Amino acid sequence: MKSNQIKAVHQRDLKKLLKSLKVYDEVKNHTQKCFFCKEVICEQTISAVFPYYNTVCFCCENHQCCSHLLDLSKEDDGDG
Ligand SMILES: [Zn+2]
Repeated sequence: MKSNQIKAVHQRDLKKLLKSLKVYDEVKNHTQKCFFCKEVICEQTISAVFPYYNTVCFCCENHQCCSHLLDLSKEDDGDG
């Protein structure tokens, strides 16, 4: 069984997670964007945080972005 790297986080745990990933200030300053639609994300609109090529990426609450995120996690099962 492969462990799923993508974690949907609870809003209350989000701040803690962002701080541990050293991206909290960036999110707070609105300098981070959704990986898929490139909309600027904030604490309220983050639906998931995930690692991609050693960077921290974000997914907003947009349904399309969420489904892209699921596709991405499937593709990740290939060679690597
Ligand atoms: Zn998005």
